Amino acid sequence: MERLTGRQIPVPGGLDVTILEPLGVVGVIAPWNFPMPIAAWGTAPALAAGNAVLLKPAETTPLTALRLAELALEAGLPEHLVQVLPGHGGVTGDALVRHPGVAKIVFTGSTRTGKRVAALGAEQVKPVTLELGGKSPNIVFADADLKTAVDPFSFLDNAGQDCCARTRILVQETVYDEVRELLAKALADVVVGDPADEKTQMGPLISRQQLDRVRSFVPEDAPALRGSAPEGPGFWFPPTVLTGEAPDSVCAREEIFGPVAVLQPFTDEADAIRLANDTPYGLSGSIWTRDVGRALRVSQAVRAGNLSVNSHASVRYWTPFGGYKQSGVGRELGPEALAAFTETKNVFISTEGPAQ
Ligand code: NDP
Repeated sequence: MERLTGRQIPVPGGLDVTILEPLGVVGVIAPWNFPMPIAAWGTAPALAAGNAVLLKPAETTPLTALRLAELALEAGLPEHLVQVLPGHGGVTGDALVRHPGVAKIVFTGSTRTGKRVAALGAEQVKPVTLELGGKSPNIVFADADLKTAVDPFSFLDNAGQDCCARTRILVQETVYDEVRELLAKALADVVVGDPADEKTQMGPLISRQQLDRVRSFVPEDAPALRGSAPEGPGFWFPPTVLTGEAPDSVCAREEIFGPVAVLQPFTDEADAIRLANDTPYGLSGSIWTRDVGRALRVSQAVRAGNLSVNSHASVRYWTPFGGYKQSGVGRELGPEALAAFTETKNVFISTEGPAQ
């Protein structure tokens, strides 16, 4: 609380101060793909700013949130300050957004549901922070360290169920064939299997529904580089890089949320920027080059909230996270995280005496 400071603004005729006040009750709606971190990075700053939290986990992953609330109690937080409301999104989530006693919604999930949450919230002029989908580019220039740049785990981590996954691999045409070969070998080497096995590098998808969704995007006969996946029970999908997709194809534009990327060539820096920005999303992206000037120019030109140069890292608790365009509204994490959970009140105190 001692760091939740306002400002003193010089004004004529008195003293002006701003006070940062908590909003009240904050509703956090979390998805299933990273159930613990995403629930925590909505909840923790809301509490630190003096709010109470109602946390609605995804229906497929309620236990993590319930355990988090138990740990909050054990850590000494007052009873009822954090409450978990498991339930169906269309019922419990919807009720949370509609409830007039909930002052703000922090939502992470699909762009489709996020738009619905924003529209419902607007009926009460309720502030929302939205962290939504992505179709992030991995921009690889010819001078890059190619092997590191095309690391398949840039889109295979969490079996690709990651809003920051670099699912559009954009490669300068002069090194396209070399990258294709590197990727083919890397995909063949990925160990897909039981997540409890130490040798496993990628597990199954979360559910039958998610597997069906990923399959519906990827035609079996599409030109692609493919790894392998176990046969038999489980929601398995092999690591896949589609090589024949036009930039305006569904697979190159939609968030698939599985271990699937598209590989596309570009000619020069301008073409790379054009392709990178040719998407309704703007969450993350990687830029691989040894040319510092180019790295800076491309970082400035790509319309996305979280870019990495010569790295695929996206999320750090210390730095702001959020999307441009249809990837979201507002920022979480970082030094300003508390600002999203406060109202700024301005108080002017006159130093002029009563009129004589
Ligand atoms: P949703 O966006 O529907 O779900 C995210 C969260 O919102 C869940 O807690 C969900 O609850 C809740 N929710 C659902 N409907 C409503 C509603 N009407 N009002 C308020 N809250 C609601 O994503 P899905 O789980 O259906 O996944 C579908 C696709 O969404 C994925 O394939 C992926 O493309 C994308 N997605 C993106 C994520 C990201 O981090 N960008 C995260 C998760 C999904 P419940 O689980 O009970 O339905």
